Amino acid sequence: MAWTERQRAMLEEMGIRLWLPPESDISPPSVAPAPPPAERKPVAPAVRSQPNGERPTGVEVMDWPALREAVVNCRACKLCQGRRQTVFGVGNLRAHWMVVGEAPGEQEDRQGEPFVGKSGQLLDNMLRAIGLTRAEAEPARQVYIANTIKCRPPGNRNPEPEELAQCEPFLIRQVELVQPKIIIAMGRFAVQSLLRSTEPIGRLRGRVHRYQGVPLIVTYHPAYLLRNLEDKARAWDDLCLAMQTLQAGGPT
Ligand code: URA
Repeated sequence: MAWTERQRAMLEEMGIRLWLPPESDISPPSVAPAPPPAERKPVAPAVRSQPNGERPTGVEVMDWPALREAVVNCRACKLCQGRRQTVFGVGNLRAHWMVVGEAPGEQEDRQGEPFVGKSGQLLDNMLRAIGLTRAEAEPARQVYIANTIKCRPPGNRNPEPEELAQCEPFLIRQVELVQPKIIIAMGRFAVQSLLRSTEPIGRLRGRVHRYQGVPLIVTYHPAYLLRNLEDKARAWDDLCLAMQTLQAGGPT
């Protein structure tokens, strides 16, 4: 990958010193062959309490307007009680890239858009450094950003298994509708939902996973990176792996 001056400046802004091997040393990553579609196991126990019982049915066949409406009106778990608004997702509906985060924080709850606070600024810088954006651009450069959970947990506490389970159908449908060419799962709750894994990020990153047949790269959550600057370089490696994986997948 060749870096422009702008990208180098961006990397500096992220606190990352650029080191790349000579072009000839970079070989495309090996992408694990897609396993046969596995039966999806629920995150939470099969019998789930539905405090308000008002998650709409039929999410799996909804189009974008119906899905958005369903999220806005969802009262399936107690998070609906403290939210200002739901936070659905942002970006080109046919983006080649999809980023999945955790849950809205205070700023996201106010503005109704994912990753608009401090971690969002870091995420935007990271994306910009590899030529990507959540704003209007051609689909190959665009990212669709969604969260695992669509409502802010009070005080930014961790989402509970019940809440993850109730919200999961919305994320599944978002992935089905966007049909991204690559997914980046940021942080442990995104990984828990998408990969059904409770392994630490450090053990899952650095290789290519699959979700619904789509290559998936695991990386650190931007909020974690803001507290653990030494892992920014690893997150950068993860983005490079994602880019290489996409390029190795052939012309788009
Ligand atoms: N962290 C997330 O995971 N998502 C957001 O939207 C904001 C912060």
